[in-house]
Amino acid sequence: MKYDTIVIGGGPAGMMAAGRSGELGSRVLLIEKNQKLGVKLLITGKGRCNLTNKVDDPREFVSEFGKNGKFIFSSLFVFGIEDTINFFNDQGVKTKTERGKRVFPVSDKAQDILSVLVGYMKNSDIEIRKNTQVTEFIIKDRKIKKVKLATGEEIEGKNFILCTGGKSCPTTGSTGDGYAWLAKMGHNIVSLFPSLVSIIVRDIFVKDLEGLSLKNVEISVYKDEKKIDSRFGEAIFTSDGMSGPIILDLSRKLASESFDNIKIKVDFKPALDHSKLDKRIQRDFMQGNNKMFKNSLEKLLPKKLIPVVIKLSNIDPEKKVNLITREERMKLLIIMKEFPLELKALSGYNKAIITAGGVKLSEINPKTMKSKLIDNLYVAGEILDLDGPTGGYNLQICWSTGYVAGNSVNRDL
Ligand SMILES: Cc1cc2nc3c(=O)[nH]c(=O)nc-3n(C[C@H](O)[C@H](O)[C@H](O)COP(=O)(O)OP(=O)(O)OC[C@H]3O[C@@H](n4cnc5c(N)ncnc54)[C@H](O)[C@@H]3O)c2cc1C
Repeated sequence: MKYDTIVIGGGPAGMMAAGRSGELGSRVLLIEKNQKLGVKLLITGKGRCNLTNKVDDPREFVSEFGKNGKFIFSSLFVFGIEDTINFFNDQGVKTKTERGKRVFPVSDKAQDILSVLVGYMKNSDIEIRKNTQVTEFIIKDRKIKKVKLATGEEIEGKNFILCTGGKSCPTTGSTGDGYAWLAKMGHNIVSLFPSLVSIIVRDIFVKDLEGLSLKNVEISVYKDEKKIDSRFGEAIFTSDGMSGPIILDLSRKLASESFDNIKIKVDFKPALDHSKLDKRIQRDFMQGNNKMFKNSLEKLLPKKLIPVVIKLSNIDPEKKVNLITREERMKLLIIMKEFPLELKALSGYNKAIITAGGVKLSEINPKTMKSKLIDNLYVAGEILDLDGPTGGYNLQICWSTGYVAGNSVNRDL
């Protein structure tokens, strides 16, 4: 038999798994259906690749994955956050830690991260077949014998590591093929849905705000008038809703709710409470007592937002600010602190960063990533039922589980 290990999928998890398995002496074949490796990796972090999150305590990292988080402990113990940073540093890619403990290459180039992985595989003599699509697994007595390719060719291997990723952003090659194979092998697939995704709202005025990016805002989600989640940071208006880090993280919460009576409120001035903001508005109005209302908000709000806020306030834009009543001012204040948006839907897989759901974790050994149903199958990366917030959490899952799968497969030769 020519190959000890066959890895399916040349994303972050697959490349890490292949490199590690080869480093330990396996004859490895990596199969990737795209013409290039790591297509999705290259667009991570807007091309800068937020490769991990430097939380101080692994428990903090794990808690971000909710009830499934405990599955990650073992692989983090073998190849954790520091190991990941050292791995890339040792191959000459310096890293930096930004706000929110997000780690990026100093070069701000995801390509540098990909080059390290390609170099790692080259050093380990991995054979790589690009432009090659796996279509089927040939299984006998709970053991995979071969993978079948779209061309009809069959390739035999001793062990197989499945790293085909999720369904999000399918143009990158992640079309969810692995889920169907796993289901056919008897695995349960926990329901899949797009996560870390932008929102679509009913309010048509967002079209006028398209492209407006916001820093230091607070966005809260209300269900039946009760606040259920809230985030501070950056967001951006899109043609039909909102996106950006805090919206993506809030989308995880929204996905688990029915949309009835859900309201989203944007606080453009979270540093000022209602009374401080009122004083600030009064001061600005006093200083410009002969100004028209429409010309009096430049110091308080981004230019693009002003016409929308004026319209929502129902205050005559030509009204002199010293004639604005207290009642009108209160309305303006509420719009600035509680800018209302009505949720219509979450965007779909095309725009999602990650796929929530995946292969049921109780069917995978967390210490080895080995399937409990198929004797020579290992699974790593996004295909697992693990989804974290933005900030480097999801790639860390790929590094840790990919490394562990590559490690363990060699013990089973
Ligand atoms: C726009 C965007 C930005 C992101 N930014 C970040 C970030 O900054 N930080 C972070 O932590 N996470 C980020 N993520 C998430 C991160 O990219 C994923 O978690 C990660 O890529 C998953 O890696 P994976 O190896 O499991 O799968 P993938 O990266 O999806 O790789 C799977 C590979 O398998 C191949 N494949 C699929 N089916 C077959 C088949 N039948 N035969 C052969 N090959 C096949 C695919 O072509 C693909 O190359 C981002 C995601 C997106 C979409």
